[in-house]
Amino acid sequence: MPTDDFGLPSESWRWPEHTWRGHVDAVRAGRRLVPDRWPGGARVAVALSFDADHETIPLRDGGTSPGLLAQGEYGARAGSPRILDLLARYGVPATFFMPAVSALVHPEEARAYTRDGHELAVHGWIHERNMLLGRDDERDLTARALDTLTTLTGRRPVGIRTPSWDFSDSTLDIMIELGFAYDSSLMADDEPYEIVADGRPTGLVEIPVDWIRDDAPYFTMDRYGSARPHSRPRDVREIWTDEFDAAYRDGGVFQLTLHPHVIGHRSRLVALRELLDHIAAHPGVWYATHAQLADTARDVLHGRTTAGSAADTPEHTP
Ligand SMILES: [Zn+2]
Repeated sequence: MPTDDFGLPSESWRWPEHTWRGHVDAVRAGRRLVPDRWPGGARVAVALSFDADHETIPLRDGGTSPGLLAQGEYGARAGSPRILDLLARYGVPATFFMPAVSALVHPEEARAYTRDGHELAVHGWIHERNMLLGRDDERDLTARALDTLTTLTGRRPVGIRTPSWDFSDSTLDIMIELGFAYDSSLMADDEPYEIVADGRPTGLVEIPVDWIRDDAPYFTMDRYGSARPHSRPRDVREIWTDEFDAAYRDGGVFQLTLHPHVIGHRSRLVALRELLDHIAAHPGVWYATHAQLADTARDVLHGRTTAGSAADTPEHTP
């Protein structure tokens, strides 16, 4: 796509209707997939995810300095064991999205996730930027990532989250071709939905994410930039508590995206522990991996369970 000096698509105001409509319709949110009651009669689903990116964050941009890599290593060395310990204490399953390079650097960690009853899912090869890749490269890297995690753990992942939630024009086709059951990279809703491509339902379940429910925007900073956005962990906990309370009221999903190298620091893990305490004080909470949540969403899609009122889609796209 041609771009101007600011990297913006050039002269979009000249596009004919079929051009802008084509872009909008390419990947769209279809039916909202929320059951009347979650498994076990629960009224809310809680789906925690951790992106075990570690060293791939600097590597992705060609950053090779030991200083930058050490910040990623912290996630594997200090963050991840603490998180596994916390989840075990609360009896909460989670989904770990892990770039293949991260899993190859830390194979025991990748195996520990599945051994402890969590889900391991695909998160690119080296946290690459899909929008910078041609279709063949993106497909090759995604397929290699899937094969790598399968070989390391003996289990084929069913889910995928694109690195940095970067979704290219080819991403959806590649996911369908490689047989993924769900994606967790898009932001069109609070609740799971079916992805619709050019007006056609795909059967692929989306478990939506959002930067609001991600630790990185609150806690990461650019050393040489002007922004110093370090937030007080308890302020962030308050935002996430409000998100959970509303999901509980709606009978929907509370989903979080965290990173061992970000949330795994001592002062921040306090906020996650307090949030888990808040959630645990509510009756009727179903803790699910993203794969389990996608299974339940698919039951709604295929009419194997009754859709709840939270499944009423305001602007239903057929
Ligand atoms: Zn990531």
